[in-house]
Amino acid sequence: MKPNISITKVEESRVDTIDFNNIPLGTTFTDHMFICDYNNGTWENPRIEPLALIPTHPAAMALHYGQAIFEGMKATVDTNGNPMLFRPTKNAARLNFSADRMGMPNFPEDLFVEGLKQLVDLERNWIPPADGSALYLRPFMYADEPFIGMRAATHFKFIIMASPAGPFFTKRIKLWAENKYIRAASGGTGEAKAAGNYAAAIRPTEYAKAKGYDQVLWLDAVEHNYIQEVGTMNIFFKVDGKFITPQRDGSILDGITRMSVMDILRDKGFEVTERAITIQEIRDAAIDGRLEEAFGTGTAVGIAYIQEIAMGEKTIHVSDESPVGLDVNNTLNAIKTGKVDDKFGWMVKVENELV
Ligand SMILES: *Cc1c(COP(=O)(O)O)cnc(C)c1O
Repeated sequence: MKPNISITKVEESRVDTIDFNNIPLGTTFTDHMFICDYNNGTWENPRIEPLALIPTHPAAMALHYGQAIFEGMKATVDTNGNPMLFRPTKNAARLNFSADRMGMPNFPEDLFVEGLKQLVDLERNWIPPADGSALYLRPFMYADEPFIGMRAATHFKFIIMASPAGPFFTKRIKLWAENKYIRAASGGTGEAKAAGNYAAAIRPTEYAKAKGYDQVLWLDAVEHNYIQEVGTMNIFFKVDGKFITPQRDGSILDGITRMSVMDILRDKGFEVTERAITIQEIRDAAIDGRLEEAFGTGTAVGIAYIQEIAMGEKTIHVSDESPVGLDVNNTLNAIKTGKVDDKFGWMVKVENELV
């Protein structure tokens, strides 16, 4: 049975005021949001309503103790202009993984997907038409119970917002291998998409940018030697014709682009190994001429090609071109826009959900 979601529409859409050729990043939101409240042990009153401010008590626990998690995904259109979602059940499952780690309630996965579908259906005119554009979707959950004291909250909100995103042109990026600050340690919260992880990354990222780098390459908390991730992306290296990516050890985010890129690479005939990778071995491979390419993977940009990595005074030159990365990115985009057969069965169509 379809979950019952009540809908209140705006009187007049703002979509006509948007210049789709020039969408400011992250500041434009669609007309509506999906929202649901957790009270007394159950999720209640799932609804879509006009996007609006939400009155918040100053003691709302998310503001003090950080019970806040999020997801990020995109709706694209196929060649007939019909909206589609990319592997939404993976985001639903990951939200609940994050919720478990942060002492928050699970959100029903069928309601997560149905909320997305109905919101995207209602906002279908907000999906930018240009190639490479998408409607970015931001599901999130936070503790809105007013309480001073340390325990799990008992009242939460789950919301999905939508924001049109223009085509993202990736330039080749330069990374700063961070050897002082860390993002995650084994046993910590690094595998959860928890808001606080990102707050802790802001200052180190600013320092890296001030030194002329685009992103931080995060290393392990103990030895500053094992590679974790790049900014908010997972990372892949091509060495001796084969791909390697850091294994999930509890301190890297289980990226949905990461898992999809592994499938695409294997489908193209490459060997892909998940294992511990040290920055030293990447440097040695570069010196020996065996490091062929490296790229980051994530929903926001797809694939970000890496040019070089700085380790203090030393520089690892990766490559000036990423032919395999480019090919994988093209395949991923073609799947997301229905231009090639969805052989992996990843795309979920948004039909006319509301009729
Ligand atoms: C969201 C995120 C990723 C990428 O995950 P995708 O599901 O591929 O978008 C990678 N690392 C971090 C830290 C993230 O927050």
